[in-house]
Amino acid sequence: MKEIKGNVFNIQKYSVHDGHGIRTIVFLKGCPLRCEWCSNPESQSTYPEIMLTAESCCGCGSCYEVCKTGAIRPDSVKWLRNKCVLCRKCADVCPTEARTVAGTYMTVSEVREVVMQDSIFYRTSKGGVTFSGGEPLMQSEFVTELAKSIKKDYVRLAAETTGCVSWNQSEGPLSMMDEILYDIKHMDSGIHRQLTGVGNELILENAEKAAKLPGDFVVRIPVIGGKNSDEENICRTGVFAEKIGAKEVHLLPYHRFGESKYRKIGRTYTCEAYTPDDEQMQRLKKLVEESGVPCRIGG
Ligand code: SF4
Ligand code: SF4
Ligand code: SF4
Repeated sequence: MKEIKGNVFNIQKYSVHDGHGIRTIVFLKGCPLRCEWCSNPESQSTYPEIMLTAESCCGCGSCYEVCKTGAIRPDSVKWLRNKCVLCRKCADVCPTEARTVAGTYMTVSEVREVVMQDSIFYRTSKGGVTFSGGEPLMQSEFVTELAKSIKKDYVRLAAETTGCVSWNQSEGPLSMMDEILYDIKHMDSGIHRQLTGVGNELILENAEKAAKLPGDFVVRIPVIGGKNSDEENICRTGVFAEKIGAKEVHLLPYHRFGESKYRKIGRTYTCEAYTPDDEQMQRLKKLVEESGVPCRIGG
C-alpha cells in the first residue's frame, strides 16, 4: 500500500518550547491565516518554495547551469520566480546552501525515523514530539497517521494549532494529543480578520470543543504590541479561556526573528508592531490570572 506523505518544512530537535520537556518539532506547510507578524512565512503556502539567501552566494554559477526554465539569470542572485517549476536542481547543486527548498514530501516512516532518534530524551525529560506549522491540521490525515505511529511507543504528543480548520479534520488528530497549544489572536472577529485575513468564529467554536478533549488545553496569545496587546482584548481572552476550561494561558511576546525569511522567499515584511516590555507583559499576565486561569509568559 502507498504510504501517505506530508509536506514538511523543518524538523527541529532539542526544543524546550512548544510543550513539556525536550521536544522535536515537526513543522508542516500550509496555513489558512496570513498574520502580519508571521515568523515562518515559508510555512504559509501549501507548496514547496525556493528560498534564496543572497549573502551566502559565492557566485559559482552552478544554479544557472542546471536551471532549464530561464528562472535564474546569469548573475544568479537575480531570478524570476514565476518561471520556476520547483525542480529543486538549483538547490541540489548549490555548494553554499544559498538556495534551499522549504518543503519536502516525506512519508510517515521517514519522519518517524528522524523523531524517534531522540526517544531517550523524551523519556528522561517527559518531552515528546510537537506538530507545528503553519497549521498542522491542514495535513490532518498525515498528522493522524504519524501520531499513531509515534504514540504506540508511548511518546507524548503536542499540537500547536490556529484552530482554523474544520472540526471534522481537527477532532481525530487533536484527540491523540497530550497537549493542545491553541492560538487565539484576537477576540473581536473584525479585528482578527484585519490582522490575519480571517474572522475568529470557527476558531472560538473549535476551541470550546478542543478544550473538552483529553489532552491538556492551553490557550496561547501572541502579544503583538499595538495590534492585539490592549488590556481589553487580553482580558476577554482570559475570561474566554477560563470559561471553556483551559488549563493555562501562555503569553508570547512579539519578536521580529522571521523578518529575513521574507526576503528569502521574495516578499516584504510589513508588520509595524512593537515588542511589549517586561512591565507590560507582567501587567497582562496579572489580568489573565484575575480571570481565574493560570498564566505564564513564554511558550
Ligand atoms: S527549482 Fe528548478 S526551475 Fe526553479 S529556479 Fe531552481 S533550477 Fe530553476
Ligand atoms: S549555486 Fe548557490 S552559490 Fe552558486 S551561484 Fe547559485 S546561488 Fe550562488
Ligand atoms: S497562524 Fe502562525 S503560521 Fe499561520 S500565518 Fe499566523 S503566525 Fe504564520
